[in-house]
Amino acid sequence: MEILTNKEEVREKLKNNPLQAAHLLRLNGYGSIKYECACGETHDANGKDVSCKGSAKPFKALLKCSNNFVTMIKIEGFFRKKAISEYGFKASIMD
Ligand SMILES: [Zn+2]
Repeated sequence: MEILTNKEEVREKLKNNPLQAAHLLRLNGYGSIKYECACGETHDANGKDVSCKGSAKPFKALLKCSNNFVTMIKIEGFFRKKAISEYGFKASIMD
């Protein structure tokens, strides 16, 4: 996973892969989807401590955890979903 350290890097990523509304991606029908977070921990994308801030095509979600880190994951797999973490950053760099 790539860790972004400033606002410009985040903007550049989102320019190449624009964000859409979070509700366009429905993750909650899939049960637990573990992903590697930018904070160093592993979370469940459907966990209570994780909120979905947006989605992107084709099947990506921007997730924020309770440690205040944001991670872009790509969901793969058909029956069994798995999450690949593409990049992440500390939410505070966007303030
Ligand atoms: Zn985290």
